[in-house]
Amino acid sequence: MTKREISEIKTLLKSPKKVVIVPHKNPDGDAMGSTLGLYHYLKMFNHNAIVIAPNDYPEFLKWLPGDESVLKYDSDKTKADQLILSSDIIFTLDFNALNRTGDMEGVLTNTEAIKILIDHHQQPDSYAKYIYSDVSMCSTCQMIYHFIDMLGDIKAINANISTCLYTGIMTDTGSFRFRSTTSTTHRVIANLIDNGANNAQIHNNVYDTNSYNKLQLLGCGLNNLKLISNLNTAHITLSQKELNTHDYKKGDTEGIVNYALSLKGVKFAVIFIENQSEGIIKISLRSKGNFDVNRFAREHFNGGGHINAAGGRSELSLEKTVEKFISILPTYTNDLKS
Ligand code: 5GP
Ligand code: MN
Repeated sequence: MTKREISEIKTLLKSPKKVVIVPHKNPDGDAMGSTLGLYHYLKMFNHNAIVIAPNDYPEFLKWLPGDESVLKYDSDKTKADQLILSSDIIFTLDFNALNRTGDMEGVLTNTEAIKILIDHHQQPDSYAKYIYSDVSMCSTCQMIYHFIDMLGDIKAINANISTCLYTGIMTDTGSFRFRSTTSTTHRVIANLIDNGANNAQIHNNVYDTNSYNKLQLLGCGLNNLKLISNLNTAHITLSQKELNTHDYKKGDTEGIVNYALSLKGVKFAVIFIENQSEGIIKISLRSKGNFDVNRFAREHFNGGGHINAAGGRSELSLEKTVEKFISILPTYTNDLKS
């Protein structure tokens, strides 16, 4: 983002505006942390701001300050459409293409509002007037911190903003352990703690609120773990039947794929999760080092993301999807073995 663009945005935000802030579908900690963090910032300057999420998010994020103000597009479409069509500015956070908002894509394409994209995913589309894209960033939440800083408002970062941004940085970095975590990330985190983020409480709220069923489902996933040791790859499946048995709730499968990646020597880990109501297999891909799962997901599973974390989908059955995956793998032998 250039200095000129920043100064244009500053001018734009000088008087109260109608602002809609949108995360991607199936919002995660970074998506909700960044949208709500920005929401609290804009509210401080008397903007009429609202977060509209394409659909609901996991229970372990429902304590975030401002959670009660979030509108869900899939359950409040008429009101959401009105707000989007009459807004002055739309921030789209933590995604790189409008189709990542599911059913909101149409109205977001049609609205005349000025769009501002802030995101750290690879290959952003060019639908927005202002684009702040940085794939080296660990999280969109860290970018929101830098964005507020660029606008000259670092002192405005209060406890609510800090709490939201801390949460997204924490979840998108696997609690500050992924490669994308830099010394700057730690400095930002330190400032957020100084400004009121209660770090121990946030970790507890997100990670220590598991249900019994969630842990049983994790056990089931680990039981289904397969290791392809000659290709340093591991994968996990969860069928709809297994999800039903453990009374699956949104968010219950989050993080399971990381257990596959934690196997000694494994560079590439994938989880395949059956979703009967959508008629798809949802795929989460993770890697260590230079194996590019964004590329893999784009080329084979209609998805994308980052080099070390991406998502995708398949319309084949669970079995056929895994078969397809296993048949593709050998073409990556050099990358997976090096
Ligand atoms: P997850 O596996 O946790 O759903 O997603 C991993 C990363 O890839 C996240 O940053 C997420 O936003 C991104 N991602 C997930 N699914 C898709 C997809 O279908 N398309 C694209 N472009 N990115 C995705
Ligand atoms: Mn993110």
